[in-house]
Amino acid sequence: MEKKIKRNFYCGDLREEHEGNDVCLSGWVQTRRDLGGLIFVDLRDRSGIIQVVFNPEYEEAFKKADEIRSEYVISVRGKVSKRPEENVNPKIPTGYIEIIGQEIEILSKAKTPPFLIEDDAKVDEIVRLKYRYLDLRRPKMKENIIFRSKLNKAIRDFLDENGFIEVETPILTKSTPEGARDYLVPSRLNPGKFYALPQSPQLFKQILMIGGMERYYQIARCFRDEDLRADRQPEFTQLDMEMSFVDVDDVISLNEKLIKYVVERVTDIKVNIPFPRITYNEAMEKYGSDKPDTRFGMEMVDVSDAVINSDFKVFKDAVENGGKVKGINIVNGSNLFSRRQIDELVEKAKEFGAKGLAWINIAEEGIKSPIAKFFSSEQIENLISKFNAKTGDLIVFVADKDPELVMTSLGSLRLYLAKTLNLIEKDKFNFLWVTEFPLLEYSEEEKRYVAKHHPFTSPMDEDIYLLESEPWKARAKAYDIVLNGTELGGGSIRIHNTDLQEKMFEVLGFSKERAWNNFGFLLKAFEYGTPPHGGIAYGLDRMAMLLLGLDSIRDCIAFPKTQNASCPLTDAPSEVDQKQLKELHIQLKI
Ligand code: ASP
Repeated sequence: MEKKIKRNFYCGDLREEHEGNDVCLSGWVQTRRDLGGLIFVDLRDRSGIIQVVFNPEYEEAFKKADEIRSEYVISVRGKVSKRPEENVNPKIPTGYIEIIGQEIEILSKAKTPPFLIEDDAKVDEIVRLKYRYLDLRRPKMKENIIFRSKLNKAIRDFLDENGFIEVETPILTKSTPEGARDYLVPSRLNPGKFYALPQSPQLFKQILMIGGMERYYQIARCFRDEDLRADRQPEFTQLDMEMSFVDVDDVISLNEKLIKYVVERVTDIKVNIPFPRITYNEAMEKYGSDKPDTRFGMEMVDVSDAVINSDFKVFKDAVENGGKVKGINIVNGSNLFSRRQIDELVEKAKEFGAKGLAWINIAEEGIKSPIAKFFSSEQIENLISKFNAKTGDLIVFVADKDPELVMTSLGSLRLYLAKTLNLIEKDKFNFLWVTEFPLLEYSEEEKRYVAKHHPFTSPMDEDIYLLESEPWKARAKAYDIVLNGTELGGGSIRIHNTDLQEKMFEVLGFSKERAWNNFGFLLKAFEYGTPPHGGIAYGLDRMAMLLLGLDSIRDCIAFPKTQNASCPLTDAPSEVDQKQLKELHIQLKI
């Protein structure tokens, strides 16, 4: 029987110090170049690439080397040798050495791959996903997947050291309300009944606290059947945590330590804690967003009071009807924007929902503004001073009787300006907590108030009385962690008594019967001794994407789905046999 070559080194680990070693390597053929008398093979395994040279001295190996092609899987026996000066490639870590190949074993042949196994090869994403196993061989993809593994390890190490236990919760479960549509699984043994795939382990982690587990975590798969946006996946991974006997500060401070530990272990980013905190209201007022990007200034300023006495009807009407007038100062904007470009900015603001965009251009030659005629010169001076604006700046305003619309449209314009004016420093990592979220938000679709976070989130103690009279004014013990304008995670302190939880369901328009029908198991558990508890969940895919500086969340998921929730590799979802459907008591009607 042929003697097998048994790997004893990884390609990417070899260096000059290994010169003279006899090594056995295994991997994929990156390239094969036949230079007449010599055959050069770049051999790749997970650790990297090394050059193997075959010469006619080892006749059999030389002959076999002639047969191999890109992506063949081979084993090689050979000797590590210094490369001649002129062949040194300082761009790769193994570039100072090569292997003099003495023996080859072809383990598996390969068809010509549909794209080059290189980082910068331009390939359609569907093709990459269809041949994901080839895509994963590309260095960057490989690094991303390894990064995920390191990230998980760092998380586990920290949480283990801090008294957390990892508990798995069911995938086949009862619908858990996180506000999205459930994925349903028909039950064969219980005709007409369905499991739901968990949108998050929320109810189970709360029950684990009632079960006395004290500190829980899980790197959990969650499923939400939503129309997909660019950085969303129908199944995604959360780092899910829950702690007993804690308040908001406890959860926040532990999580700051977690973030610092994990991020500093897996990246070169320095993390300073504690992170700044901002209330939801302040975030909306200053940035027009509940996930503000604080890598640049351009904060919004409320000028409602300063315009109320002007003759400008648009501003006056907005304020008098319960709305606001807010503006931002574009430093140096007068010099950066031509008249035509200001008009384009007005159109942009409209795209973001504003009815219009007023402006004051503080040009060198004097103030230019279509609204200046409605203001006295003191009023204009006063207005400008609110922004600390100076000659060369451009102030833009949005007014509306809907204050929310003023904030969000101007907030979007702020982000747009930062991008177009290149105000965002790429290597800044600004972590930040947003706290005191509203307990409820109005759902236009359902024509009722729904929980802003989820129905188990506790109101702030001082706002509990509002549940009777004006529940929409109540704030919640809820917090989000934001990184560079993206929500990394969110959580809350939970309600831990049946009465308050029932009250909350009532506010949400659930009858007592329906509440018990849907969540009876939790409400019942509350009756048997419930510790105060709270937690948080992070979108781990998104966190990895941001830390890796990727543009697409799919680049850090081994087997992601496309925009229409399908998998080009396996062709899921797909039709199933009639027999399977029958067993599940399902009839199709499409
Ligand atoms: N279950 C929540 C979510 O998935 C997080 C939490 O409240 O801990 O967003």
